[in-house]
Amino acid sequence: MAQSESSSPKKEVILRGVGASPGVAVGPALLMAVDEKCFVEREISADEVAGEIARFEEALIKTRRQLHEIQERVSSAIGQSSASIFDAHLLVVDDRSFVEEVIRGLEEEHRNVEAVLYGVAERYARALSQVDDDYLRERAADVRDVARRIVRNLAGVSPGGLDAVEKPCVVIAHDLAPSDTATMSKDKVVGLATDLGSRTSHTAIMARALEIPAVVGLHDVSVRVTQSDQVLLDGSKGILIINPTPERLAQYNRTVEKQRSIRMELARLKEEPAATLDGRRVVLSANIELPSDVDAVLEVGAEGAGLFRTEFLYLTRDSWPDEDTQADVYEEVARRLAPAPVIIRTLDLGGDKFLSHMKVPAEENPFMGWRAIRFCLAQPDIFMTQLRAILRASRRRNVKLMYPMVSTLDEVVRANAFLEQAKNELREKGIEFNEDLEVGIMIEVPSAALIADVLAEHVAFFSLGTNDLVQYTLAVDRVNERVAYLYEPTHPAILKLINNTIRAGHDHGVWVGICGEMAGNPLMVPLLVGLGIDELSVSPSMVPMVKRVIRSLQFEQAEKLKEEALKADSGLAVAERCRELLADIAPELLEFVA
Ligand code: PEP
Ligand code: MG
Repeated sequence: MAQSESSSPKKEVILRGVGASPGVAVGPALLMAVDEKCFVEREISADEVAGEIARFEEALIKTRRQLHEIQERVSSAIGQSSASIFDAHLLVVDDRSFVEEVIRGLEEEHRNVEAVLYGVAERYARALSQVDDDYLRERAADVRDVARRIVRNLAGVSPGGLDAVEKPCVVIAHDLAPSDTATMSKDKVVGLATDLGSRTSHTAIMARALEIPAVVGLHDVSVRVTQSDQVLLDGSKGILIINPTPERLAQYNRTVEKQRSIRMELARLKEEPAATLDGRRVVLSANIELPSDVDAVLEVGAEGAGLFRTEFLYLTRDSWPDEDTQADVYEEVARRLAPAPVIIRTLDLGGDKFLSHMKVPAEENPFMGWRAIRFCLAQPDIFMTQLRAILRASRRRNVKLMYPMVSTLDEVVRANAFLEQAKNELREKGIEFNEDLEVGIMIEVPSAALIADVLAEHVAFFSLGTNDLVQYTLAVDRVNERVAYLYEPTHPAILKLINNTIRAGHDHGVWVGICGEMAGNPLMVPLLVGLGIDELSVSPSMVPMVKRVIRSLQFEQAEKLKEEALKADSGLAVAERCRELLADIAPELLEFVA
């Protein structure tokens, strides 16, 4: 719960939320406007018209420059075709009739430029959305997007997208979409704080991938902070401090120094194996969201990518990526990681990850609806394109494939039938792929964990997706900060499901990994090792800490913790035991956990 310890404007104010990405950040706040109509409408005199036209032209230049910059950044980070989404936006800025209509409106209506522009854009967008042509209908969203960007440039607030941030700042927003965070630059956005969200929302996951300290679930930070307030954010402890006192800043400087020296010490473990003191080996891999995350995987010495979330390839463009584009990306990731493996997960859209061009009707319960494998099985063209692309990349041998959100055996059988069909199509064309490609599934729905013995007959591996497993087992929406207090990975029900999955997997010769955020929490690592997990796949930035925990542990201690945990009657009791053990074996890491 966000709590205020003091509230007068220039006094220090401390807010508590959920630590979503570790690290400390200090800087001026940059408030992201959330309201589309973020301007005040007013009448202007005839004398003011010329000034308003000049403001409009300046904002157009600024908007055009921003769009070109984003296009370049996205193109170098994710590829040229992703950047093409901004071509359509540039066409709007350069559309003479659009620009002239705004100028005419200024001269005739005598209202400020924001109001006139908003009116013209709405008329354009509405007309476009009624045209009987898919392409033109989709352009309505571009017109609205660009108008919003221009209005924000006129108002001097950040134009919605994090891409346009100009100097280092801490971004404060009501909420952010994963696609917003995907275009963030780490040198400009030094920290991130939102009213909504939880540790496992995809925005938080993206912040961790980009190593930007973040606190989410702060409830009302976006209305308590004013533009340019100095803020201090502690992403490990889940704290945001508005107008910190000089003493507080000095105290945090010491913390930052301490954390930096711990991290430098941990970096020395890079070449060491992830093995307990008595030699029990655990594979330590990293999760990646974007192809460029491979740099971080190599830098920390992870043993491959235990989860490549492919959604971000789709979220950053305005049409479905074709087979060649995908095959190139997958193959490049596999090439750079070789000989270490990469587990490519098929598309997991839905939940909190949507595409504006998906044309999927809004759902009451998106996390329980048309998501992930359910969506793919119903959209054979999209699914087959991705399967063929992954198969093509598999010629590199270190590629494995994984289906998300499996809840029944039938889904695995049907998905594998599509995979066979994709293989046949490639065979007919004489295109090379790995005939022995390993196929696994995510265990992230309680039903799958409970029938893990049945599913194990059909797959080569399991990967526990605890972000969703916790949400579905405890009926706690993973992005709803109001129920975040119930989101407990150490809940006895979760531990029983994990235990059941590992036992069933091992009985059938199926290895079991975990790629949910729980795996990267130093407090949970001994427990997972005790439960017998074969692989931990975590954010690259957490690899050194997780390795340090494993290397400080006797397997016997981990097993004892597991025995106690499986008998415990509350998640809190288990969490306390986990904390005691960490304090015993790697006390310096307590610095980094909430
Ligand atoms: C999970 O659910 O734990 C997982 C790794 O998948 P995602 O976070 O992408 O839903
Ligand atoms: Mg999941």
